[in-house]
Amino acid sequence: MCQFPDSLNAYNQILTRYWGFTDFKPMQEEIIMSVASGRDTLALMPTGGGKSLTFQIPAMASEGICIVVTPLIALMKDQVENLVSKGIAAQAIFSGLSRNEIDVALDNCVYGSIKFLYVSPERLGTAIFRARVGKMKVNLIAVDEAHCISQWGYDFRPSYLKIAELRDIIPHVPVLALTATATKDVIEDIQERLKFSSPNVIRASFERRNLHYLVDTTDDKHRRLLEIGGKIPGSGIIYTRNRRRTVELARFLSSNGISADFYHAGLGSETRSLKQNEWMKGKIRIIVATNAFGMGIDKADVRFVMHFDVPDTLEAYFQEAGRAGRDSRISFAIMLYNGNDRMSADKRVLVRFPSIEAVRQVYHALGSYFRIPYGEGKGLVLDFNIADFSSRYGFSPTNCYYCLKTLENEGYLELTEEVNSPPRVHFTVGRDELYKFQVANASFDAFIKLLLRTYSGVFTGFVAIDEEFLAKRSRTTREVIYQYLVRLNKMKIVNYIPGRKSPLIIMNTERLDGSSLYLSASSLNLRKKKYVSRLNAVYEYISSNKICRSKFLLEYFGEQDAGICGNCDICRHKREAGLSRYEFDLISGNIREAVKNGNVRADELVTLLEYPPEKTLLVIRWLFDNAVLVTQPGNIVKWDDK
Ligand code: ADP
Repeated sequence: MCQFPDSLNAYNQILTRYWGFTDFKPMQEEIIMSVASGRDTLALMPTGGGKSLTFQIPAMASEGICIVVTPLIALMKDQVENLVSKGIAAQAIFSGLSRNEIDVALDNCVYGSIKFLYVSPERLGTAIFRARVGKMKVNLIAVDEAHCISQWGYDFRPSYLKIAELRDIIPHVPVLALTATATKDVIEDIQERLKFSSPNVIRASFERRNLHYLVDTTDDKHRRLLEIGGKIPGSGIIYTRNRRRTVELARFLSSNGISADFYHAGLGSETRSLKQNEWMKGKIRIIVATNAFGMGIDKADVRFVMHFDVPDTLEAYFQEAGRAGRDSRISFAIMLYNGNDRMSADKRVLVRFPSIEAVRQVYHALGSYFRIPYGEGKGLVLDFNIADFSSRYGFSPTNCYYCLKTLENEGYLELTEEVNSPPRVHFTVGRDELYKFQVANASFDAFIKLLLRTYSGVFTGFVAIDEEFLAKRSRTTREVIYQYLVRLNKMKIVNYIPGRKSPLIIMNTERLDGSSLYLSASSLNLRKKKYVSRLNAVYEYISSNKICRSKFLLEYFGEQDAGICGNCDICRHKREAGLSRYEFDLISGNIREAVKNGNVRADELVTLLEYPPEKTLLVIRWLFDNAVLVTQPGNIVKWDDK
């Protein structure tokens, strides 16, 4: 087992040396010290809380390599680049890479001095990974987005279950599981599934004091959009459910003189990063986006996040809304709601949970589409174009997607996000042999020199290249560069993998015939039930007109005794119902004083105070609704402000 230093000082030094920060954020220290003591740890921290450092710093302080399991390939690449830019050796392996690349990367981890290996969960079960990981000197397993392991949670990814097997291969390595969202049952589930040796949860409060939660019920969302967009200055994000609407709303705002652009996953990656950068720099004030926007985006001064459509879970809502106000200044999280929202949500439930028969049809069509013989195909990684597939078999792409998701949940296959991989090159010959080749093939000489001058490390492993850049540098076209590479590849001088962009399907089992494909109706129903209950929670949040929004959300995430925020629409409304803020505070202050000694009964309270009873009653009711006042045996009132 690898040793971690026990003094905080060692971690402080790393924080300053590599990251240039002088202090830890709240809870970072506690999490790091828990990991350092070798304990399995589940850390709950809101988005932006600084989760990455809680595994990166202890891993840096100890010998060996840290394995990081994380589901999003784009984020994985970001983190690796970030570490590498600090001079820290990091590698990523995910399903879009070729076998050869994975081989080289894993070898580097066994023999090299790699400090961080980022792995997408579906790679964990592969023979090639399992064989090598046992030979690595692993100091820590970090599991990002750990709630994905919970089968009944809102973002279950079956491949997360394989992490438990990883623990069997490398026992005695502590696990640090991280998530920005988890309800009570999910918290238990995570620890059980990750085989924690004893329960150990460290939780930072999810309270966001500067965030004002508002639910805006309106028949005219467009009008509210304009009003709010025009009224709140500064950067904003508007989330909407479908891609087409991002375009429509951004145009609508722009045509009304409000700076806005749209963003969704259907755009090319260059366009996406262009739009994202413009917004980050403040050149575009408002970005109208689907939920594809925001992961890994670290903009501190977002003044509002508006949900034009009601989200399906409070988990997603809290994460998205939480992107506002990371700089601690007053910011707004606004949800627009109208009577039709629930109806469309109910319709979506039907699509999201297709019939077993529909799922079977898609499964069999998939086998034919890829011409997989029965009894074969286990472990195949296939480029998948859902539009082509569904049109060929007459499925609606959305229905088809949820049928595939069902098959994924049942463990038959994995769907990965779109893998956008740059072209990569690795010289398969050594320097001497290459020199001989250059002498014998003068027409390649200039191109090879260009490659060697532009990129280092091409002899030791695959290096991502930029064909556009090479073309510019050598005053030629991308096509010419591509042709050189293809030819060198054929001549076995380089190993060249062209860039590509496509989602993948990985077959987890051999192709089964009709009778062997088992789909459990009870598990599908249970999943649906859980989904509907999460949906109900969203509508309870919207329709509740008693409980402070912040308190509602925090309690949903298991934070008992959360205080009232005083800023959300409910808190404001209560205060404003005939009372000024001054009056409300005055009366509630007096109530607090009156019940201090623990001998006042609820029915006496109104008469004890010298204010008009209707006002006093209003405040009392509000305090009870928000559990600031509670009754004890004998109807005695207690002020509970934990
Ligand atoms: P999370 O994964 O919890 O959303 P990140 O790990 O991405 O958060 O960190 C959020 C931001 O906080 C990043 O910009 C990171 O550099 C910054 N950060 C993390 N720890 C510290 C610290 N101790 N001091 C200052 N900034 C920090």
